[in-house]
Amino acid sequence: MIREVEAKSILRKHKRIDSWFISCYGMNLYRGCAHNCVYCDGRAETYQVNGEFGTDVTVKSNAIGILKRELDPKRKRKPMKRCYIMMGGGVNDSYQPIEHKYELTRQALQLVYEFGFPASILTKSTLVLRDIDIIKKINKQNRAIVSFSLSSTDDEISAIFEPGVPPPSKRLEAIKTLTAEGITCGMFLMPTIPYITDTAEVMEQTISQACNAGIKFIIFSGMTLKEGRQKDYFSNVLRQHYPDLAEEYRKIYMGNQWGGPTQQYHDSINKTFFDIAKRYKIPVRIPSYLYTDLLDENDLVAVMLDQIDYMLKLRGQKSPHGYASYVISKIDQPLSDLRTELSSIRGIGKSTEMVILEIIKTGRSSYYEKLLNWQNPKL
Ligand code: SF4
Repeated sequence: MIREVEAKSILRKHKRIDSWFISCYGMNLYRGCAHNCVYCDGRAETYQVNGEFGTDVTVKSNAIGILKRELDPKRKRKPMKRCYIMMGGGVNDSYQPIEHKYELTRQALQLVYEFGFPASILTKSTLVLRDIDIIKKINKQNRAIVSFSLSSTDDEISAIFEPGVPPPSKRLEAIKTLTAEGITCGMFLMPTIPYITDTAEVMEQTISQACNAGIKFIIFSGMTLKEGRQKDYFSNVLRQHYPDLAEEYRKIYMGNQWGGPTQQYHDSINKTFFDIAKRYKIPVRIPSYLYTDLLDENDLVAVMLDQIDYMLKLRGQKSPHGYASYVISKIDQPLSDLRTELSSIRGIGKSTEMVILEIIKTGRSSYYEKLLNWQNPKL
């Protein structure tokens, strides 16, 4: 069932810049998702998506008028931050089937273009190709990134767990098409489905095919299963297609608050991903050349530190940089005004200070680049 509602606001400002999407602003033009992926955590009660998830979709019918007001600099006392405007994520896909009719995503992209922002799109649907004309204009003017979410590149597995989306083979073709048009593409390798798409063989095939298609980065994550609607729905499908795995799942999903798997399982899939990503030398975050010139100084430092933190932890190392990134995101004053006082700020130690000073001075971090490009075999 499709339900139209009037929204009060569309643009959602994040508390701090998001280092996955390099974005401070996101939007949900729809609520609910007819792609109906079996593992979708939008089904979990905590997100309060009303109705039958996978069938019922709420359309924010006045979204474009509101977004136009929200993006208009003449209506703002304080200018918006420079960053990518994020389309997708949350409990919907911007290119789910209803978009054929309403074209809200297309119209929103047109506004993003007219108001001069970069765009970062995440989808599982090849419908994004319909808007290649606008995406190219955004890319030429300010830059656009299109990321595809894939659990694997196996069409048969996808047909079971992602019944409403084009098969991975079509998504790979879309990556090739966009790349040929000069658009940067990435892969969100998530969620990997335990014992089905998380094995070294399947993950390697996925990464190899996505790299061949032209992706420039991979963002990886495992799967959550929250108690209640999400877990019940998933377990039913698992029982039908992979009855032997039920016991294995019971061992790794012990019912924690966020639906996360055990630490041991989490560490093991991260290790599998790390080994393959390292062999393919593929960046595991959006590379800095796609954002250094966009962000203000503090956001640039916060994003780079956050990404360094992730890359060190993926290598099994401890890192103080994630907390420092959080601390910096709370500071309004430009960091270059504070350069002599950095080490006295709680949460910023000597190693972080050195990274920050280099970024402030050059807009780059050699340490970050080594990690991102797998340059130092010891790292
Ligand atoms: S496309 Fe994304 S939001 Fe839609 S059902 Fe699948 S996982 Fe959920």
